Amino acid sequence: MRRLAIYCGSASPPDAIYLTAARAVGQALAERGIGVVYGGGRLGLMGALADAALAAGGTVIGVIPQALEDAEVAHRGLTELHIVGTMHERKQLFTDLADGFLALPGGTGTMDELWEALSWAQLGYHAKPVGLLNVAGYYDALIAFWEKAGEVGFVRAPHRALLHAGSDLGDLLGRMAASHPVQPIIYSRAEDL
Ligand code: AMP
Repeated sequence: MRRLAIYCGSASPPDAIYLTAARAVGQALAERGIGVVYGGGRLGLMGALADAALAAGGTVIGVIPQALEDAEVAHRGLTELHIVGTMHERKQLFTDLADGFLALPGGTGTMDELWEALSWAQLGYHAKPVGLLNVAGYYDALIAFWEKAGEVGFVRAPHRALLHAGSDLGDLLGRMAASHPVQPIIYSRAEDL
């Protein structure tokens, strides 16, 4: 994996553990020679991660829609900043530019991006690994939901391996890099479940 799309919050929660984790991930990716592509913002975990990666000599590419650029939330010191017309173009560019996806703690936007990466993988629109960094148990409930969805049968058995979740970045990156693309299966009959 030479470049990862990083999805994370644009907020700065009062508990410093989240910003600290974002900075550690930015630095660790730079040290491993893994470039970052992300939403291009300067705020919250996004900005903290980008700043840390840049400070450690890493490459950081931002992809931001015009409306957010107009709102002046774009980070001005990135290696590259792509300004696109729509959120759809932005997500397509994330997918094209990255070799995998990694979500850190975040809110609505982060969830949207994470689930799209998973959904597109199971439909075969990409074959890139998807990781979830579980900082301080923030995603415990989400991981439980993923397991529940698999047990019930809403996430099919072959797709359950699509999400790599963990709290240790090195271990998580190793599992993502070693993962084999899951065969996309589009079920056409209810009984295939
Ligand atoms: P959220 O988790 O709701 O804070 O949204 C964060 C995700 O949505 C990021 O990964 C970005 O791609 C996108 N996003 C949301 N707000 C911003 C912002 N102010 N600047 C840039 N991207 C943003």
